[in-house]
Amino acid sequence: MTERTLDKVEMEKVVSLCKRRGFIFPSSEIYGGLGSFWDYGPLGVELKRNVREAWWRAMVQERDDVVGLDAAILMHPQTWVASGHVEGFTDPLVECKACHQRWRDDMVPDGVCPACGGEITEPRMFNLMFKTFVGPVEREAAVVYLRPETAQGIFVNFANVLNSTRSKLPFGIAQTGKAFRNEITPGNFIFRTREFEQMEMEFFVKPGSDEEWFQYWVNERFEWYAGLGIRRDNLRLRQHAPDELAHYARGCYDVEYLFPMGWSELGVIANRGDFDLGQHARSSGQNLTSFDEESGEHIVPYVIEPSAGVDRSLLAFLVDAYDEEPDKNGTRTVLHFHPALAPIKVAVLPLSRNEKLAPLSREVYAGVRKEFRTQFDDAQSIGRRYRRQDEIGTPLSVTVDFQSLEDNMVTIRERDSMKQIRVPIPTLNVILSAKLGREPMEVLPEGGIYWAGFE
Ligand code: ATP
Repeated sequence: MTERTLDKVEMEKVVSLCKRRGFIFPSSEIYGGLGSFWDYGPLGVELKRNVREAWWRAMVQERDDVVGLDAAILMHPQTWVASGHVEGFTDPLVECKACHQRWRDDMVPDGVCPACGGEITEPRMFNLMFKTFVGPVEREAAVVYLRPETAQGIFVNFANVLNSTRSKLPFGIAQTGKAFRNEITPGNFIFRTREFEQMEMEFFVKPGSDEEWFQYWVNERFEWYAGLGIRRDNLRLRQHAPDELAHYARGCYDVEYLFPMGWSELGVIANRGDFDLGQHARSSGQNLTSFDEESGEHIVPYVIEPSAGVDRSLLAFLVDAYDEEPDKNGTRTVLHFHPALAPIKVAVLPLSRNEKLAPLSREVYAGVRKEFRTQFDDAQSIGRRYRRQDEIGTPLSVTVDFQSLEDNMVTIRERDSMKQIRVPIPTLNVILSAKLGREPMEVLPEGGIYWAGFE
C-alpha cells in the first residue's frame, strides 16, 4: 500500500479535480444545473465502469453460486405495495416556518432551521418514490414508480431464475443499475443524490444457515473495499442496534468509510429472513419456494442482501486515492487508484514532438491500446505530462525517446514510486500486464521478467 502525505482531504478539492479533469460535472450545467444531479465525464465514465466491473467480477464472474440479472427500472406497481415501499418508504419531513426550507427531521438536531435558525414544523411522513405515468393517459390507474432500489427486480424474478438455471440453495442473483429517490436533503457531492446506481445481490439460503452466510457476506463486502486499495483505517463495520432494524430484519451491518464529512454508510449487508419472498408470494399468488432434496420439502429461502452504491463507492475510492505530495516543482497531486479502477491504465508519451519520434511512438501506442485503456499525449514538457497522468491516477507511463530508435526499448515510469525501467518494445505488453497486477510474474529492476515457479 502506498503511504499518503495528506491524512485528510477536503471534499472541495475532490469536486474541483473532478470538474477540471473531466470526471464529474454538475448535471445540465449550462442551464444552471439541477440540484444534486451529476454527470460523469470522459474519465468518470471509465472509473464508474471499473467500479461496477470490479464488483461484478467479485460477485458473479469469480463465483459458482451467483448469477446476474438486469431487470427493468419501471415495474408493476403492485411490486411496491408488496415490498412495503408504498406504505413505508418515507422519511420524516420538517419545514422551517420562516424560510420554508424543508429538511429531513434527523438533519435538524436542535429543533431549529439549520439555514436561518427559524422554528420548524412537526414532522410529517414523505414518500421518497418518484411517480410517473405509463402510456398516454395521466391518471391514477397508470401510475408507476421509478424504482428506489434494484432489489425488488431480483425478488420478482426469483422463480424465473430458479427454473431457468436449475440453481440449488444457497445461490444468489446480482444486479447493478439505476435507482431513484426523491431525497429530502441530498448533498455531499455524489454521496447522496436523487438518481444513483446500486450494486445489489440477493443471496438465498436455507433457514438455519442464514447467520453463517450473513457473517460471511459482511466479511466479503468489507474485504472488497480493502482489496481495491481503501486504507483499512478508513473503513469500519457498524452493527445496527435492535431498535434500528426493520421488524423483519434478523441483523444488519453498515460498511462505513471515513468521508470528509465523517464516518458514513458506504454499503450495507442485511439478513432479511423470508420477508421479501413471503410478501411477493402472498401478493402475487405465485409459488416462490425452492425444493429441498434433503427434507423433500418446498421451502421459502431466507435472504442475505449485500447492497452498495456505485457512486458512493466511487467517491470513497476517489477520496482515499487523493494525495498531494511535496516535490521539487511544488506539489504533485496524485490519485493512487488501484490499477483495476484507474480510468486510464497506460499513457504513451513521446519524449518530444520531433517528427523522427512520431512513427515509432504511434506504433507503440497502437500496440499498447489493443490491451489497455491508453492515452497518447505529446503536448508540453515530459515532466508536465507525467504530472497530468498522476493527477488522473494513470498507474504507468511509457516514454519513447531518441535512444528508442536505436535500441528498440522504451521507459516505463510508475505513478506511485516514480521509478523508471527500460524494457524491449516486444515485451512491453507482457511487462505492463505484470506491473498492473494482471499476471503472476515480477518485473526485475533491469526490465527482465521473473515467472514464479520457473526457477
Ligand atoms: P440512508 O439511510 O443513508 O438514506 P439507506 O440506508 O436507506 O440510506 P439503502 O436503502 O440501504 O440506503 O441503500 C443501499 C445503498 O445504496 C447505500 O448503502 C448507498 O451506497 C446507496 N444509496 C442509497 N441512497 C443513496 C442516495 N440517495 N445517493 C447515493 N447512493 C445511495
